[in-house]
Amino acid sequence: MRVEVYDEQGMAMGELNLDPGQTPARTQTSLSHEFIPDWERAHDDEGNLRRCIACGCDHLYRHRTLPRVTGFVIVLALAVAAASVLGLASGWPMLVGMTALLIIDVAILLWRNEVLICYRCRTRYWDLTIARYHNAWNRRTAHRMRRGEQRFDVNSSDSA
Ligand SMILES: [Zn+2]
Repeated sequence: MRVEVYDEQGMAMGELNLDPGQTPARTQTSLSHEFIPDWERAHDDEGNLRRCIACGCDHLYRHRTLPRVTGFVIVLALAVAAASVLGLASGWPMLVGMTALLIIDVAILLWRNEVLICYRCRTRYWDLTIARYHNAWNRRTAHRMRRGEQRFDVNSSDSA
């Protein structure tokens, strides 16, 4: 599991990597911040993460992420399309190009992974099995969390 830690003001504290079953009492992040994880009731019966180990919040949501390479593929697809419209590429080169794009697309679909994010401190958890009861981001829960944590919220510009 890779953890991207944020403090309650939303400041990035760096990352840390934890092997499955590893529950250190204290550790250091990649930005040399001391981090004391809260492991109490952090895992459910199946050993999946249930609570945020940074702030102890019970509310986490799942979020699908796409690798940065996607932008490159879109540009490449547009270039291939433009070349075919202009008649610059036809026949075999075109076919090879489209096949390569298709393979890259499928690979990206397989690579894209889900991340678990804490509603309260926005700490992100990568490369882990996400329990079924964690849902996608929910406006109502987010609003409730924000109201409950207003004293920590330094940039509550929108009141929606
Ligand atoms: Zn948290």
